[in-house]
Amino acid sequence: MTDALPPPPAFAAVANVRAGVRERADADPPAFWAEQAGRLTWDRPWDTAHDDRDWPTARWFDGGRLNVAVNCVDRHVDAGRGEKVALHWEGEPGDRRTVTYAQLHEQVQRLANGLTELGVGPGDRVVLYLPVLVETVVATMACARIGAVVSLVFGGFSADALRFRVADTGATVVVASDGQFRRGAAVPVKSVVDEAVAGLDHVAHVLVVRRTGSDDVPWTPGRDVWWHDLLDRQPAAHTAQSFPAEHPLFIVYTSGTTGRPKGLVHTSGGYLTQASWTHWALFDLRDDDVYWCQADLAWVTAHTYVLYGPLSNGATQVVYEGSPLTPHPGRHFEVIERYGVTTYYTAPTLVRTFMKHGPQLPAGHDLSSLRLLGSVGEAINPEAWRWLHEHVGGGRCPVVDTWWQSETGAAVIAPLPGVTPLKPGSATLALPGMAVAVVDDDGRETPPGVEGNLVITRPGPGMARTVWGDHDRFVRSYWAPYADRRWYLAGDSASRDEDGYVWIGGRIDDVLNVSGHRLSSIELESALVSHPRVAEAAVVGAPDDVTGQRIVAFVITRAGDADDSGLAEELRAHVATRVGAVAKPREVVVVTDLPKTRSGKIMRRLMADMTAGRGGGDTTSLTDPAAMTAVESAWTDHR
Ligand code: ATP
Ligand code: MG
Repeated sequence: MTDALPPPPAFAAVANVRAGVRERADADPPAFWAEQAGRLTWDRPWDTAHDDRDWPTARWFDGGRLNVAVNCVDRHVDAGRGEKVALHWEGEPGDRRTVTYAQLHEQVQRLANGLTELGVGPGDRVVLYLPVLVETVVATMACARIGAVVSLVFGGFSADALRFRVADTGATVVVASDGQFRRGAAVPVKSVVDEAVAGLDHVAHVLVVRRTGSDDVPWTPGRDVWWHDLLDRQPAAHTAQSFPAEHPLFIVYTSGTTGRPKGLVHTSGGYLTQASWTHWALFDLRDDDVYWCQADLAWVTAHTYVLYGPLSNGATQVVYEGSPLTPHPGRHFEVIERYGVTTYYTAPTLVRTFMKHGPQLPAGHDLSSLRLLGSVGEAINPEAWRWLHEHVGGGRCPVVDTWWQSETGAAVIAPLPGVTPLKPGSATLALPGMAVAVVDDDGRETPPGVEGNLVITRPGPGMARTVWGDHDRFVRSYWAPYADRRWYLAGDSASRDEDGYVWIGGRIDDVLNVSGHRLSSIELESALVSHPRVAEAAVVGAPDDVTGQRIVAFVITRAGDADDSGLAEELRAHVATRVGAVAKPREVVVVTDLPKTRSGKIMRRLMADMTAGRGGGDTTSLTDPAAMTAVESAWTDHR
């Protein structure tokens, strides 16, 4: 196998997952998933593991009943592990809380009683518009406990973005905070909620967590309730009932990288099975691990790999409220050192940010507790992968690059640490019990190295069941293109190498076509990022009369590179040797920032629209409109 890093033998010898698991799963996938479902506690066993009669909506573990919160909290307490730390929570200003499973159990039961008092019942929707707090974790578990469907909305979203999600879900209760800390400052939240829910009659209550302690919180008597008042008057015990395996658990909206966000509906038994098993397997979970997934709780990443996965496995985890750069860019490394984090699950955007500061940033901290690193959200450029591996992982930690989506509910393509040889920049192979392919528009597999559409030919039990309120969009977007074969169209382009490893190339819509050559945006960006002067890059295809599209590269230079002279020429030559002459960017525009979604993904479509002279695309997911304004003015100057 070319350029692959074999698993470190000492790691492999004691890893949770051993060689042969893929083969065993492939022999009988439903049986494999049924075995993993057996890791959970069921009130009633299922009749059928997998049923496709409602395709494309799958049914898993039909006839079975369970309670997700009981699986995530109660059963650890019942097993005598109540004193184990569930959460090491740290606030942005530096305040800290340690919460054991027993304490979490008590809070969840009180809130389950509290939500019931507020009239919430099974199937009702509850929207959480909260920072990353202990209360946010408690609220997701309390909803699961009473069968309410939770939808988390990122605390940094505007009133409009919140309103869209509250209205779309028809929520009866919105849980929010008085204010929140953002990059060192306390900002009001409750007033934003009031604006968002104005006139939405289905919202019966707004439950408010005190976080920043501001004095003038606008209040609507009868509707608004303080969290502490509600919990204080509840009994500490709550009897949980079980729900069918296909009972809806949560609605998660996609990041909105390519357009209007879709509200994906995930259900209970199958989702929890895949979340729980993949968390245990991919992060090689051990009882004494201190696990940290840095994603905001509102992203699907954290649903599966902070909330339902780790809690179902009884893990101890770090949960951090704030910005990674506050009050200084080494905050994450400080947190890793303080809690002895063993497992750090991060995102390429953050790795590239750290790279801008140079290796001295992690080098200033004791990171020797780390034993495994993870990445998710975008393709990780090989350069960023190596930097993470070397400068954060000390060269000893496997980097587990996990490809998945809000739609898939949990990881689909990822290495099994201890088993799968790693290749920097590739998420490697489909996980056991699932299968993927890279195909052309007619469904034929593309030869090695040739870009095509990534499809899931065998989804896992965690796959979304529908788009909330728009089942037709679910069918149309994902399943209609290859309906005859029952394949799922992921919307990402990819290629496979001679070893069958999957290399994600970008969004299908972002694939460039220059004189008939299909080029992946990620491949070009990775080539640019591998140049010592470049920290980040975004590549788009601008319309061109002769070549169809011409390549425009927007680049951020590394710290200390104030003078861009000769840069464009150097980068063209560099890309020509790395990828080929056809891939040379025609134009290189130096920028200070790139437009990104709130979850840190580069929004190439906005830049593509700009170069084509189009405007007006959906920008509701944009993290910082100023970034796009700066790109626009750099573009104008460049022209
Ligand atoms: P929208 O669907 O609204 O455009 P989104 O696709 O960004 O938003 P998510 O579901 O949060 O919303 O992100 C999933 C996408 O993120 C994948 O389809 C893929 O493009 C990208 N992605 C996630 N993890 C990886 C990874 N490890 N490697 C490459 N790409 C990844
Ligand atoms: Mg998507």
